[in-house]
Order: sequence, then structure tokens, then C-alpha cells
Amino acid sequence: MSTTSSATVVVKKPGRQALLSGHPWLRRDSLIASEDLVDGGVVEIVDEQGSWLGRGIYNPQSHLTVRVYTRTRNQQLDGDFWCQQIQQAVDLRRRLNRLHAGEACRLVFSESDLLSGLIVDQYAQSLMVSLTAKATAQRIDEIGEALRQAMGDFDLQRIVIRTDNNMLASEGMEAVDQVFLGDLPDEPVEILENDLTFQVDLRDGQKTGFYLDQRDNRKLFGQLARGRVLDVCCYSGGFALAAARGGADSVTAIDSSLPVLEMAEQNARRNGLEIDFVKADCFDYLEHLKQQNEKFDSIVLDPPKFAGRRNDVPSALRAYHRLNRHALELLKPGGLLFTCSCSGRVSAEAFRHAVLGASRRAGRQVQLLYQNGASPDHPVLLSCPETEYLKCIVARVY
Ligand code: SAH
Repeated sequence: MSTTSSATVVVKKPGRQALLSGHPWLRRDSLIASEDLVDGGVVEIVDEQGSWLGRGIYNPQSHLTVRVYTRTRNQQLDGDFWCQQIQQAVDLRRRLNRLHAGEACRLVFSESDLLSGLIVDQYAQSLMVSLTAKATAQRIDEIGEALRQAMGDFDLQRIVIRTDNNMLASEGMEAVDQVFLGDLPDEPVEILENDLTFQVDLRDGQKTGFYLDQRDNRKLFGQLARGRVLDVCCYSGGFALAAARGGADSVTAIDSSLPVLEMAEQNARRNGLEIDFVKADCFDYLEHLKQQNEKFDSIVLDPPKFAGRRNDVPSALRAYHRLNRHALELLKPGGLLFTCSCSGRVSAEAFRHAVLGASRRAGRQVQLLYQNGASPDHPVLLSCPETEYLKCIVARVY
């Protein structure tokens, strides 16, 4: 791939504003098409007066037609660029005291680390790379090498590279399934999180294998959850195990996927914890519990992303309302509601409003204790609101 370019795109006024305010995407309709553009090539970005604004990578198939990587004129998008940016991201995790052998953290978080289209998670000695843009998929070798260098003396065993399947069509890219370093293990790798061990399936797990963004929230839930606990959408059991290790008397955890429940059961067993796992749809199951007049002391709701696209927001808000209303009706007075939304399209305010609506319908008072986001290895880039995707409301319910 070329690293310098004579190709130039001209941005219209609104695109110019967005770029100047630090947003990393230029949509197709914000560009005036220019000549010499090469699919996957580096482009110079200028405004209608010809002033240089930044440098990015061009993908005519994507509606995010140019991803902006630098606003520094003498910074070329070459191997050194990937090395520098990745090193900076890794150094931040070291400084946050998140990078430890045997544990897990997000090393690179796409736009939040000024590396649009690149996600890298560390699981003990393994790195899982998830490419969410054709621009990064076209530069696997440079990225793999930069990661190897940035991890220095970390004793890396493997770097596994994947594309995010949800992005293949919108980016017009081919799936990548490559092991850059080492080999893909048959067995899951083990990580330690908040004194609990978890198996992470690098072959078939959801996302890159584990929901690292909830690490600090799982710890908090472990500290706060008491009595009879319900973990809704439990994946490999993170919240449920934290509660069982903490002050819970009993824990029920549900998920609609059988393979993840099998992994969750193994995780519970390996930590010597007893949890009742149930395969069920979250809406149906909560409805069923209500009909049975069951009551809980602590409930965590961590459903999948309900709004992937802007048009999904109204139906997502209705789904949050419904799920939270069910949970509120199942909680004893004084109970703990730990409710999350990972829909980037749903703002923190809209989510809070959905919970408020649910509390009115349920006839319950809700006292907010914490309003959290993701752990700090998933930073938020202020100029890119889409990076503030995880919202977590922790409340006492009367
Ligand atoms: N709390 C988990 C992460 C949850 S991710 C953790 O800390 O690791 C969301 C989970 O919801 C996934 O495991 C997915 O299988 C599950 N899920 C998706 N749709 C569901 C539904 N309708 N009912 C129950 N679970 C669902």
C-alpha cells in the first residue's frame, strides 16, 4: 500500500467542521470527489479553499469514505505511523496499570486511540486483533509488526488477526483469519480478572472472546450484590461469578446461547462457585419469573446492542424500557439494579430516560448510585461521541 499520495479529496463545509473538531470519519456525502483516488490509498484532505486539513485512507465502498489518521502535515501513514500510534496506545495501558501477564485488557480501541478500524485485546500472552475497516485490513503486516515491537519484552505467544464479520459488507472487505505470530490454540486461554479465572475462547468466542469493557463494573457488582442475584445476558458468567464470590446467597444467570453457557459453567466450576445457569430469552424469562411471583435482591441487565443503526433507536429504547420494567418488578424493596446499555446510538440521557419510564410503569422509586461507562482501557474520544457506547446505571430500588 502506498504511504504518501498525490491524491486529494476536497471536503465540503460540514465535513470540514467535523474534521476540525477532531472527528475521524468523512462520509461520502461530505466529499467532493477528486481524481487520482486509489481504493485503499492514502489521501490528502483539503477544504474548498485548498487548505490542507489532514491525511487519511480512502475506501470508496464504505460510507465512511475517508478515515482520518493524522492532522500533522509531516506525519506520513507509513510503518512508522502504525508503530508510533500503537506504542502510544500500549504505553497508556501500562500507565493505567492494566497491562499484566496473566490478565487481560484492551490495548487498542479504534477511534478512541486515533486508530480507526483497529481493535486489539490482550488475553494473558495472546493478542486478538479485530479489524473493523478495510484500511487496517490492507495493512495487517505493518500492524502485526508494530504490535510485536510495542509489546517488547512481554513474552507474547501469539497474535491472532480477524475481521469483524459485521463490517465486511459495509466496508467491502474480505474476511481475514490469520495468525501473525505463534499458533491458534485448540483450548481456550485462561485469564485472571478481579481474582477470578475465566476461559477465553479465541476460536469461536463473541467479540474478541471476552467483554473486557465491563471489568470494573463486574468488580463493583461483586462488591454490591447481595442475597438472591439474577444475571441477565451473562455470556461467560462475569457478573454472576463476581456476585457469587462476593456477598450473594444464590445466583441465577441466563443467556440465550448454549455455547456461552457451557463456557460459563466451566468458569464457575473452575472457581469453585455454584451458579444456576439457564438457557432462555431474556424477555420471556423475566416475564416467566414475574408470573411465578419470584423476587430478587440484586439484578444485572447486560443485553446485547439493541440499536446498531440510527433507525433502530426507537425500538431499542422500547426494549430497554421493557427489560428494565420487568427487572424493577422483580426486585425486592431496597434491591440493587445494575442496568447496562452498549448501544452507541443510545445516549446516556436517553437510556436514563428509558429507565425512568420503566420505574414509573413499575411504580418504583430509583435512587442512582453510579453512572458508569467502560473501564479506562476503553477511553472515550470526546470528539467522537460514538466511542462512548457503554452506559451502566447502578441504582437502589424502593
Ligand atoms: N455480561 C456479560 C456480557 C454480555 S454480552 C459479561 O460480563 O461478560 C450479551 C449477551 O447477551 C451475549 O452473551 C448474548 O449471547 C446474550 N443474548 C443476546 N440476545 C439475548 C436474548 N434475547 N436473551 C438472552 N440473552 C441474549
